[in-house]
Amino acid sequence: MESIGVLMMCPMSSYLENELQKRFNLVRFWNSPEKSVLLETHRDSIRAVVGNASAGADAQLIDELPKLEIVSSFSVGLDKIDLGKCKEKGIRVTNTPDVLTEDVADLAIGLILALLRRLCECDRYVRSGKWKTGDFQLTTKFSGKTVGIIGLGRIGTAVAKRAEAFSCPINYYSRREKSDVGYKYYPTVVELAKKSDILVVACPLTDETRHIVNRGVIDALGGKGVLINIGRGPHVDEQELVKALREGRLGGAALDVFEQEPHVPEELFALENVVLLPHVGSGTVETRNAMADLVVANLEAHFSGKSLLTPVV
Ligand code: NAP
Repeated sequence: MESIGVLMMCPMSSYLENELQKRFNLVRFWNSPEKSVLLETHRDSIRAVVGNASAGADAQLIDELPKLEIVSSFSVGLDKIDLGKCKEKGIRVTNTPDVLTEDVADLAIGLILALLRRLCECDRYVRSGKWKTGDFQLTTKFSGKTVGIIGLGRIGTAVAKRAEAFSCPINYYSRREKSDVGYKYYPTVVELAKKSDILVVACPLTDETRHIVNRGVIDALGGKGVLINIGRGPHVDEQELVKALREGRLGGAALDVFEQEPHVPEELFALENVVLLPHVGSGTVETRNAMADLVVANLEAHFSGKSLLTPVV
């Protein structure tokens, strides 16, 4: 397989890079200042693209690689891949479902606790010596609060199970009501938000779900409600979110993802009722290595004529 060209779009895991390097002719997209020259040089050898949540395979890249057979994404989200184009051209697509579910759900609960119990602010309070001047203010209880989940899939369900252990009633919104769960279904996001103390975004980013959390949803969640986004940044209308937080129309927000990563609206930095993370939902050594193994296993399966482990297209 050493002669097979594999284009890696950006640095995502040194373990993955080494594993790909051992098996394939690895081309690093980010290493070249002249992208068009790089693609021209390797256009006849690149048969696979490895992308992630920040860089995938758009229509232009796909068109520039005539020998492309497979896009293997180091992510479960597929929003950086032109799936329509891949289908049209018969290009296979794989992702990394399941192996990251627990980490992302764990992080969602961490964000809820950090936001409601103000853990980051408490930490700053101790470090800055302010504790010596008085006790920290009272915060908000998590146990028993109603959790609404947008997108009750693998991650949404894992968040629900964890929140159940905190005695939280669970409601959800998806395109269809699920027959096999005991949680209450709401047919619109606004209705779900109205009934939620904590609204968690866990659906895929598609044309339908871009700005699924808009002003109407934010207002339905209200001044006592909080938003947790562990999906994708563009799920939330960030300008409306910033306005609502500043005007006190929303109680708080804990965000792992943003519309223009790595750029975060600076207005958020001054607010104490927000927790801001640099897109680290699946960011543990164990999970990133498991994701890397899955990317490599899918490529090996494809190039040895075996069934893909996690096919999407
Ligand atoms: P999944 O198992 O496919 O679940 C997605 C759920 O969303 C499904 O239950 C689906 O239900 C629902 N859904 C799809 N389209 C919808 C729509 N238009 N409106 C409302 N609900 C919709 O995916 P997953 O593994 O849980 O991952 C979910 C997403 O999490 C990924 O796509 C990714 O963007 C994000 N993620 C983020 C991180 C991070 O680092 N923060 C890490 C991993 C994943 P229906 O079909 O019934 O609508």
